This record gives sequence, structure tokens and C-alpha cells, in this order.
Amino acid sequence: MPYSSLSHLECSRTAKRYEADQVQGVSEVGAPLLVRYDLDEVRANVTPEEIAGRPHDLWRYHELLPVRDPANVTTLGEGMTPLLPIPTYGAQIGVPHLLMKDEGLIPTGSFKARGAAVGVSRARELGVKAVAMPTNGNAGAAWSVYAARAGIGSLIVMPVDAPEITRRECVVSGAELYLVDGLINHAGALVKAAVEERPGYQEVSTLKEPYRIEGKKTMGYEIAEQLGWQVPDVILYPAGGGVGLIGIHKAMKELQELGWIGPKLPRLVCVQSTGCPPIVDAFHAGLDESTLVEGTRTLAFGINVPKALGDFLVLQAVRESGGTAIAVSDETILAEVSALARAEGAWICPEGAACLAAARELRQSGWIGEQERVVVLNTGSGLKYPETVQVDVPVLERDGTVPTAG
Ligand SMILES: *Cc1c(COP(=O)(O)O)cnc(C)c1O
Repeated sequence: MPYSSLSHLECSRTAKRYEADQVQGVSEVGAPLLVRYDLDEVRANVTPEEIAGRPHDLWRYHELLPVRDPANVTTLGEGMTPLLPIPTYGAQIGVPHLLMKDEGLIPTGSFKARGAAVGVSRARELGVKAVAMPTNGNAGAAWSVYAARAGIGSLIVMPVDAPEITRRECVVSGAELYLVDGLINHAGALVKAAVEERPGYQEVSTLKEPYRIEGKKTMGYEIAEQLGWQVPDVILYPAGGGVGLIGIHKAMKELQELGWIGPKLPRLVCVQSTGCPPIVDAFHAGLDESTLVEGTRTLAFGINVPKALGDFLVLQAVRESGGTAIAVSDETILAEVSALARAEGAWICPEGAACLAAARELRQSGWIGEQERVVVLNTGSGLKYPETVQVDVPVLERDGTVPTAG
């Protein structure tokens, strides 16, 4: 039985077919390529019961992933993160059946590890010598770490304002790293030009190579499997490039076609910051694509993307699933970071906190019903964002005393 049931690639705009077993970027019309599988073969070869007995990482879904030879699998144990009930916090915001998919526990401390594990594995399989990408930090960190593990090179360009820890992650794993005084789109232009000068380098910017989305879609498989092959009513996702949201929707549709879940799809919520809301604006304006927002600014750095290549796919997924889009402010994001940590003991990233703020608002407006099962994605660990917590505590004299209680 084949390890992967990979069939071909398909243009997300024209549905034109492309060969999968050579290095591919975007389609002729500049659109992302989506990976297609022989789902009849998958259905014949594997069952959910069999998957239940496999190791607890994302490679448990290997028939539905693009790597053909297990020898090319580059793993640090990523995947199968906890789907945690957060009932105390849930009760506070009026959503008692609230769950958090906690990606803070994954290698490199952000869910970018999923896309990097699958993207790097496939790049290695196709003979790529080095990967090159612009990043807001976490993706560059993850791709350079996995590239090191695979024995291939990495060229990373990130804004000077990106979380500082992510620089160190690139440097420690031997990446060629540059900072740019600008945003991710400026970094992107620099990388594109560099790759044209460098044979053997593949540009792996968000959705400019087909396989990152396959890594991120496994969050959708895991949520369904962890709920006993059922889907929640609502999933909230902090969208920058939107890869995870597109991926989760793709995963759910693949599971439907396999007959592993029923006809219901989770309503997907695209969460952005009021400091950078291009897709939210497009959604409410009834548009199929977003327009570049100038001068964007948010402390939720992973979602500071002024114009995403796959914006139309995010909008399609949100509309097709009956979802919505909402922007929240940095102040509410910071408030949710501490509200969650106090209620549940979990220190999450600002992007994850944005989803909590959105859940709170959507419950208040009635868009989320009280009895609904709701999943928020925490896409990274709070430990990567120490500046989200202000520490102002007394220093004691050595021979002094701790103040009396109360
Ligand atoms: C990159 C990132 C996001 C956004 O992911 P996209 O796939 O670009 O939508 C959200 N949260 C964190 C922590 C990130 O690093």
C-alpha cells in the first residue's frame, strides 16, 4: 500500500491540473496550487480505527499527506496537540463548551512547525537544495529548524520588528538570516529577487509552494479525530496569510468525501486585528478579494499581513462554511491573554488571544449560541511573546519581610 495517495496539483483559480512530482510554485495565473489525493485509494487502504493506533504526530495521516517515501519524513514529533476544555474561561464569556486547540506545545512553539515539517519533507523529496522565505518570524524559525534537520539550507528575511526570539531560532539552526526595516511584503520582494539569482533555491513564501497548507490542514483532521470524528459548530482562526483556515476547510471536505465525518461543516471564523483587517473588510464589503492595507500595526505579529495571496480562498472557505470574519483590537488581545492565564493557567500567544476576544464578541452579539461547541486555535506559546505581560513587582530587602497576607 502506498505511504501517500498523492495524485496531482490543481490551480485554485482555474482547476487546471499540474504534475506533483516536480518542484512547483504557483500556477500560470499566479494562484496557489492545491494538492489532490486519490481518496478512493485512501478509503480502501485505511480506516479511522487504524489511524487511532498510530503514533501521536501529524504523520498518522500519511496517506493524506504529500510525502511519498517515509525516508524523507523530517519530523521533530509535531502534531496531535491537546484539544483542551477551558470551562472556567468559557463560563465567563458564556460559551460553556469552549475548547482550545493548543499549538503552543508544538516544536518551535508555533503551529508553523506543521507547515514546515510537511513542506521541508516534500522539498527534500523533490531534491531542493535550499528554501527561501519572507516571514513575520515564526514561519522563518520553523522552516530553518526543519531545514537543518533535513540537511538543506535556508534563507530567511524578516521585519526588524518581528519577535526577537524568532531571529535567534533562525541563527541557532544555521539559517542565512536578514532583517528588513519594513513589513512582510517588503521582505517578500527581497526574497523573490534573491531566489532568481540563486539556482537550487526554492521560494517557499506563504502559498507560493503547495505543501505548507497540507501540514497545516492536519489541525482539521486532529480536531475531528479528537472529537470522535465529529466536527465542532464553530472554529475561530487568527488569519494572516490564512493558510491554516484554508487548510482546515480543505481537511474537513476531504474527511466528508472519505465518509469519515457527516455532512455538517464547522463555521469558520477569520479573526484579524483592527490594526490589520484586510480580509475582514473584504468579507463585510461582500468582495471576493482583499485590498492591501497601508500602515498596518498590531502586536499579534503573526497576523500582520497587509495583503495575502490566498485571501480569496479564505473568503471562499468562510462563506462556504457559513462562517464570518471579525477584527479585534490589541487592547482586547492583551486583556484576553491575562484573562485566560488567570482562569485556566495557560499562557497563549496574542494571535490565539485574538480568537478568544472574537469568541467573546460573537457570543455577545448572539452569532455563537450558548450551547454550541466552539474551538479556538491558540497558534503559539505565550513564552515566545514575553513582552505581552508587564511585570511590576516589589523587590524585597534581603533582611526584610514579605508583606502580611491581605
Ligand atoms: C503565522 C501565524 C499566524 C497566522 O497564520 P497564517 O497561516 O499566516 O494565517 C497566527 N498565529 C501565529 C502565532 C503565527 O505565527
